[in-house]
Amino acid sequence: MERNSNVAISVIVPIYNEEKNLPELYRRLTDTLLGLGLPYELVFVNDGSKDNSLLEILRLSQTDSAVFYVNFSRNFGHQIAVTAGLDVCRGACAVIIDGDLQDPPELIADLYQKYQKGHEVVYAKRATRNGDSFFKKTTAKLFYRVLRASTATDIPLDTGDFRLIDRKVIDYLKQMPEQNKFLRGQIAWLGFSQTHVLFDRDSRRHGTSGYSLGRMLRFAMDGITGFSDAPLQFVTRLGFTISALSFLIILYAVYSHFILHRTITGWTSLIISSMFIGGVQLLSVGVIGEYVSRINRNVLNRPLYIVQGSNLSQNAVAVNGG
Ligand code: UDP
Ligand code: MG
Repeated sequence: MERNSNVAISVIVPIYNEEKNLPELYRRLTDTLLGLGLPYELVFVNDGSKDNSLLEILRLSQTDSAVFYVNFSRNFGHQIAVTAGLDVCRGACAVIIDGDLQDPPELIADLYQKYQKGHEVVYAKRATRNGDSFFKKTTAKLFYRVLRASTATDIPLDTGDFRLIDRKVIDYLKQMPEQNKFLRGQIAWLGFSQTHVLFDRDSRRHGTSGYSLGRMLRFAMDGITGFSDAPLQFVTRLGFTISALSFLIILYAVYSHFILHRTITGWTSLIISSMFIGGVQLLSVGVIGEYVSRINRNVLNRPLYIVQGSNLSQNAVAVNGG
């Protein structure tokens, strides 16, 4: 299919089991974009959905020439799906939005309005998070604050990937080929003029979150290891502190034995100290392991994703994928 290269806005939607959300999503996106009156394209990236999302997307692409899709060969994860969308999109700017209607499509108009004032990045900051569980809200709040405290990059608080970015930013992102993607960090790292619009995050319309606890932890790790060496410095300081402390304890033990003539004995203190040091050592090895695993993935340098099908031209999808 021929594509219009004068696209003003590309909207990138990662899709993992969203068949029930797609019709409403499509309708609201289309209404908003038609309201702006600019040439646009919708890029759906089907990330190995197990339901009928792909059929739904195919149906849309057959009736609407503004709908494009990339179908992955399996599930590669949310960040990779967005990356694929950025790789193939043509717009002068792009909007990244979730496919579960947690990010209201109507906000794109506000994002675009701010963008026209000359900012390269307009992110949507969550004023409230309706619907998310207490656990998700607290862990997310904690995560954004730990991340911010541990890195020099100015990563905005309480902000997901819902945002509008300029073509300049898209092109620089393509030059950042790291395997463990943390897009909101990469975009913050790039700099330029960044601003935000506040919004109330809705709850997911249908279906369940694709982010399990394990995946959330993995994602948090990628954010921290990708943008900070603080855990490594923490481990070093921990080592220093414990060494200093044990030196003091040795001094006291010697003093107690020779001066006070009271030899310190005890199974309890022995076990506690050896378990403590064992724990600290495992923790330290684990922290180093996180960084080593990052190096490993980047040395392997596999394609980020594999495309099984698409209605985009072949060279457009062969950027990062196979
Ligand atoms: N998603 C994806 N691949 C995945 C998991 C999620 O493409 O492996 C998509 C999902 O369809 C949605 C967006 O990423 O459009 C956000 O995912 P989700 O709503 O599951 O995350 P949460 O909002 O719970 O953080
Ligand atoms: Mg969601």
